[in-house]
Amino acid sequence: MSDQNTPLVPMSSPDITDTERQAVMDVLNTPNLSMGPRIDEFEKSISGYVGAKYGIGVNSGTAGLHLCVKAAGIGADDLVITTPFSFVASTNVLLYENAIPVFVDVDPNTGNIRPDLVAQAARDLVTGGSQARKWLPRKGAESAGALKAVLAVDVFGQPADYDSLNEVAGRHHLHLIEDSCESLGAKYKGRFAGTLAEYGVFAFYPNKQITTGEGGMIVTSDVQAEKYMRGLRSQGRAPGDTWLQHTYMGYNYRMDEMSAALGLVQMNRIEELLNKRQQVAEWYNERLEQIPGVQPPQLGPETTRVSWFVYVARFEPGYDRDVIAKRLGEHRIPVRPYFLPIHLQPYMIERFGFKPDDFPVTEDLGKRGLSLPFSSIMTEAQVDTVCSALRESMR
Ligand SMILES: *Cc1c(COP(=O)(O)O)cnc(C)c1O
Repeated sequence: MSDQNTPLVPMSSPDITDTERQAVMDVLNTPNLSMGPRIDEFEKSISGYVGAKYGIGVNSGTAGLHLCVKAAGIGADDLVITTPFSFVASTNVLLYENAIPVFVDVDPNTGNIRPDLVAQAARDLVTGGSQARKWLPRKGAESAGALKAVLAVDVFGQPADYDSLNEVAGRHHLHLIEDSCESLGAKYKGRFAGTLAEYGVFAFYPNKQITTGEGGMIVTSDVQAEKYMRGLRSQGRAPGDTWLQHTYMGYNYRMDEMSAALGLVQMNRIEELLNKRQQVAEWYNERLEQIPGVQPPQLGPETTRVSWFVYVARFEPGYDRDVIAKRLGEHRIPVRPYFLPIHLQPYMIERFGFKPDDFPVTEDLGKRGLSLPFSSIMTEAQVDTVCSALRESMR
């Protein structure tokens, strides 16, 4: 790799110590590389931390969300209200079951789904008729069934407004799924992300707050759902089934013991990791306030703790995010546009006929947001390097 192309600062980095390395080695010195004691411990560590009854470890956040979709009984042609301003996995898990996503737009400050729009969509979809049609995709919804659920996403480490979402869900007897894959440790009115709906899911890809390499965890306090999802995770074995008995058509979504051991040590360090992310975010905030034309991330009034998944700066109108991103690249600063809206991904346009301007706030945020290098091991000097390059790139 030539020096000219090496990033000056990595886009993201896991935060791994010798304790993690030793914990993984310890597993490798046992015969139990899967379905051993570590997964149980890791599940208890996460469920205990957030205050949920159960944790179910899985091999990705996406797998966890898929099992929540199954637990909510979402099937072909069912309608699910969700957000287009997210990582694609939150919508893909609906498509896996041939459900139909009903997108509503987001809050311009936080990027989280707007509960008032969820309420309007739910009311119109439950009533049916011509009012309902305006919420549905242009195509791919010809055989639309009933409204079944709401799937909200806690974007960039900030929970959505679950008091309002739970109220709408309760009023119309809908399931509510929380995609908390970006928000381990975040709090809404003092309550932990992941526990704010019927089921929550965390993800442990290396850029998340804690990592297991690949991995995820469902948290719930619903005993029926817990049993069902635990069964589906392991080839559909219901409690009491033997190795070759499969009550349900299941999946292999299990997390291995090396990953669980790694995650357990990371969870023992969770407050340290979150505090370090908070410090890096504060270094960025201080500097961004001094650069005209760019805003630090905006927090909602109900976020009592943000858990900083990524640090997304937002440019004011008149600045071309893509030009600035290109110049930053020339300065060897890696950056990423966040998010490219889900409804404008090619396969979504093809299947549902979405068009530009369908969800203007989502699209505007998607055009103005730029994720800057961010991790818990970032130094103040590295933040300086990024911000100096940013200042120059905006000239
Ligand atoms: C990271 C993430 C997921 C899950 O990702 P995996 O790579 O499958 O672990 C799901 N939803 C959102 C919003 C995410 O950011």
